Amino acid sequence: MPGPIDYTKIRIVADPDTKEWWEATKQHRYLVRQCKDCEHKWFPPFPACSKCGSMNLTWMEIKGEGIIHSYVVIEQPILAAFVKAVPYLVAVIELPETREKDGSVTRVAGVLLDNEKDVAIGFRVRPEYEASNDPNMVIPRWKVTAKVPGAKRFDGTKFVPYEKLSQ
Ligand SMILES: [Zn+2]
Repeated sequence: MPGPIDYTKIRIVADPDTKEWWEATKQHRYLVRQCKDCEHKWFPPFPACSKCGSMNLTWMEIKGEGIIHSYVVIEQPILAAFVKAVPYLVAVIELPETREKDGSVTRVAGVLLDNEKDVAIGFRVRPEYEASNDPNMVIPRWKVTAKVPGAKRFDGTKFVPYEKLSQ
């Protein structure tokens, strides 16, 4: 598992667009923005729908069962808060619960709790809610919940099934 994030070195201030989202994470609930007019979903919660321009918005609560779409390994911390966390992984995570009529899904970026050897593209993840020094800021991290057969990793030259790399 990566080292700890030093949340005392990050200041997060909720604004009118994110206030409800931060309230939900305190209750270990995951929200994505949803347009009331066209049902498009997205995150982070920009104040207007990117599909139809509407500002008539709501939230959709999901379990957060996601699929790793891609990831990078962070070796150099760009913020002081992450000095002890390296190396850690940031993943692009697909959220199938948000699937729309045209097949598109919302993707979010997430900091994983797993080491690189336990991660592959296609693995399933869920948020785990991490307390910070600020009781109003509970941060979702993501953890692998299932290693899916056929999931792939990059071996330096090509993508290969996870099973072959972990033998
Ligand atoms: Zn819309």
